Amino acid sequence: MAEVHISRHPLVLHKLTILRNKETESKKFRELIREISILLAYEATADLRLEPTHVTTPLGEADGDNLQENIGLVPILRSGLGMVEGIWEMMPSAEVWHIGLYRDENTLQPVEYYNKLPVIPTVQVCLVLDPMLATGGSAVATINILKQWGANRIKFVGILAAPEGVKTLHGAHPDVPIHLAAVDQRLNALGYIIPGLGDAGDRQFGT
Ligand code: URA
Repeated sequence: MAEVHISRHPLVLHKLTILRNKETESKKFRELIREISILLAYEATADLRLEPTHVTTPLGEADGDNLQENIGLVPILRSGLGMVEGIWEMMPSAEVWHIGLYRDENTLQPVEYYNKLPVIPTVQVCLVLDPMLATGGSAVATINILKQWGANRIKFVGILAAPEGVKTLHGAHPDVPIHLAAVDQRLNALGYIIPGLGDAGDRQFGT
């Protein structure tokens, strides 16, 4: 069974505090999402597999390591988009795959509206990105799609979660490690994380 990792890194905790502040304006908010995402992805990828290689330096020969696995970044639209860029800079050969889901108002179930995954999986490790793990419904549905596609190593990277979202995701996909900056108190009746940071999409995109 995979674990739920809550970062204790001082930089993450400091930046998260500014992110939560309702006075933090959109540009700064986007920068913080980007920076926290890099730090969390750094922790989440600590077990990526390596293959030994050899490199010639200006002064001699050295043993080295190459990443063995192709990585896929899968942002959950739309809030997850702000997590992609910074992480992608750290792993420029990663592929970015978009899966679009909306919640049916009658059934409350996620419905897929965009999915261009190729028939054959092209990545070995998928990082599913969403800053807010609220109900967990979109994360579970996205990971269902990735597993049906054939992705065999999947990790969830978020920033804030409600206990309800962690329980739902962990219950549906116990093999998927969950990496977060914090787990907050609860969800409110509208599905917002309390105390959270408000609407992560609106705050990033200025809507
Ligand atoms: N999505 C958000 O943007 N904020 C929440 O609190 C929950 C879901």
